[in-house]
Amino acid sequence: METKIMECVDRRRQELIDFAKDIYRHPEAGFCEFRTASRVRDFLEGLGLKVETELARTGVSASLPGGDGPHLTVIGELDGILCPRHPMADKETGIAHACGHHVQLAVMLGAAAALTDPAVRKCLGGSVSFLATPAEEYVDAEKRRWLEKEGVGFAGTGKGELIRLGAFDRTDIALTTHVHMVPVKEDFYLGNPACNGFSSEMITVEGKAAHAAVAPWDGVNALSIANSAYNMIGLMRETFREEDHVRLHTLVREGGQALNCVPDRIVVESKVRAASLDAIEATREKVTRAFEGAAYAFGGKICRERLQGYLPVRYRPADKALQKAAQCLKGYTCREAVPGDFNNACTDVGDLTHLMPVVNFTYAGFCGGLHGEDFAITDWDKAAIAPAKLMALTVYYLLKDQAAQARWIMADFTPAFTRDAYVDFVRKIIGER
Ligand SMILES: [Zn+2]
Repeated sequence: METKIMECVDRRRQELIDFAKDIYRHPEAGFCEFRTASRVRDFLEGLGLKVETELARTGVSASLPGGDGPHLTVIGELDGILCPRHPMADKETGIAHACGHHVQLAVMLGAAAALTDPAVRKCLGGSVSFLATPAEEYVDAEKRRWLEKEGVGFAGTGKGELIRLGAFDRTDIALTTHVHMVPVKEDFYLGNPACNGFSSEMITVEGKAAHAAVAPWDGVNALSIANSAYNMIGLMRETFREEDHVRLHTLVREGGQALNCVPDRIVVESKVRAASLDAIEATREKVTRAFEGAAYAFGGKICRERLQGYLPVRYRPADKALQKAAQCLKGYTCREAVPGDFNNACTDVGDLTHLMPVVNFTYAGFCGGLHGEDFAITDWDKAAIAPAKLMALTVYYLLKDQAAQARWIMADFTPAFTRDAYVDFVRKIIGER
């Protein structure tokens, strides 16, 4: 059966590579991946599957029914990242596939092709969905407002919105992949390293306008308040613990209007990353105190609007099914996640890991930096074909023998949130809008 699964993927080799190259040439932004979604739909329909579309605007899902056994969901991500200098960036939007989501979709579809084979299907003691999710990359505040008007409830992340809409209600175990996100020299990295979560905020600094030359003493300089807050945050960095992996980013979205006028309004978008919800919260409070303190000193005012972030990824070592699947792939090198491995970036897979077990692996086959203009796929077998085999084989090992491995994982897992608790948690952050 293992050989058959791998042959099914090999038979589609060129088709899968062509698919990924096509998506690479047509990158789309989060929640707007309409063309990409239609290509995924076409492929899944070509396998004879019934396809649902427009989940959280652009999400696409197809299921392989399998009785009342465990339900697995294999995930692929639809969006590109804003990277205007990338040679393949869309000329108008600046979006490019500089994070490898185009090959990740091919991995999901390759696995779907193998698992829909009638002989393979017969061995599965459960059902499988293939779910292409919108908007894995950060959605900025301005776009979130627009999306909220368009009816997206949780406009910060595709997976969060899909959780809210109930798209994961049937899922017992999710399966995710990505190109390597931590430094790994092997071809495959099995398991999920712990990973930062983040919280985000729009901070509006209100000052008072005045003529910059005639009467600056009548004004309250919002830019000075923001600068002072930046200085304070810089000095606070010595209070960040190494194990919390704190990363702080800010962007000035509005920096004043007229040079001869004391700036009365500055808008800063901030992002606090850290390894735990407590550390995110503690750091967020420090940022808040810096802005509030600076505003107090100058006599200005701060307005803050919290935005939905991503939850940290909960560490998960390589599951037995994944290990066994990797042993089938000859000629590839492999290493497993160990406690202490850490990814400083963030992904909305973190939200999923709080609700369900997420079986994850990452793979090589690319050069350049993630989200960088030099990112490119260099080895299609390592980045698409072998990972598709690994995904299909992992599903097979999870669901064979009446899904013994899947059932073991489910029994062993304690969720941090139910769906309703998750929705309440996010609502508390963003407020009722
Ligand atoms: Zn990514």
